[in-house]
Amino acid sequence: MDFRARLVSWEQIDKWCENIREKVSNSYRPDMIIALARGGLVPARVLADMLWIKDLISVKTEHWGITATASGKAVLKDPGNLNIEGKRVLIVDDITDTGQSMKLAYDFIMKQKPAEVRTVTMLHITRSSFIPDFFSEIVDEKNWAWFIFPWNVYEDLDNLLSRVLKGRMTFTQIENELKDQFNLNIDSSLLSHILDEFRKAGRIVQEDHTFSKPPESQ
Ligand code: ADP
Repeated sequence: MDFRARLVSWEQIDKWCENIREKVSNSYRPDMIIALARGGLVPARVLADMLWIKDLISVKTEHWGITATASGKAVLKDPGNLNIEGKRVLIVDDITDTGQSMKLAYDFIMKQKPAEVRTVTMLHITRSSFIPDFFSEIVDEKNWAWFIFPWNVYEDLDNLLSRVLKGRMTFTQIENELKDQFNLNIDSSLLSHILDEFRKAGRIVQEDHTFSKPPESQ
């Protein structure tokens, strides 16, 4: 198995954020936070609260087109002028995996003459070319996984399901394939809820007790 997916709970996010809050506040007093959208938006908002920072903005980087499929290089989406001259900035993202997004944002932000910049992520994978100043957990690249964050469950499961679904499959077959192909253990009631929502959104077809892709996406 070369692809693992791990569902992350809100409790886990809270623990990681609390942990990085402690690390940051021991050595840095930022004036403002820049979130890297989209993955860094929620951790940045939580950290802004925990660190009493009201000045929170975001820049958008794009790298992974489809879940765990690097679609070429990271790019910065139209960031404009950030007005951060002289500010002590904290850049927040969810994970440094290749490190490309953080590097790109860091270089761009440095050009705008902030007084100081520090970077923080919840998770840092050892293969990343960019090492953030603070992170909660380091993940050995041998244990690489695609982390399904609670704010990305629909998008990630949509991608994983489209890789799993072949012809018509039962609920149990889908559950087993997610386990076999991605080592993903997902609570049956959550999977059932998601499949139901996907059916309502027209992303999956249900006939009796089987599921398949809609004809146009097969
Ligand atoms: P980074 O600089 O964070 O390594 P990448 O360019 O590799 O950035 O990835 C950009 C974004 O893609 C991350 O901020 C995150 O939202 C998402 N991402 C990358 N790798 C993973 C992963 N292993 N699990 C979940 N999300 C990921």
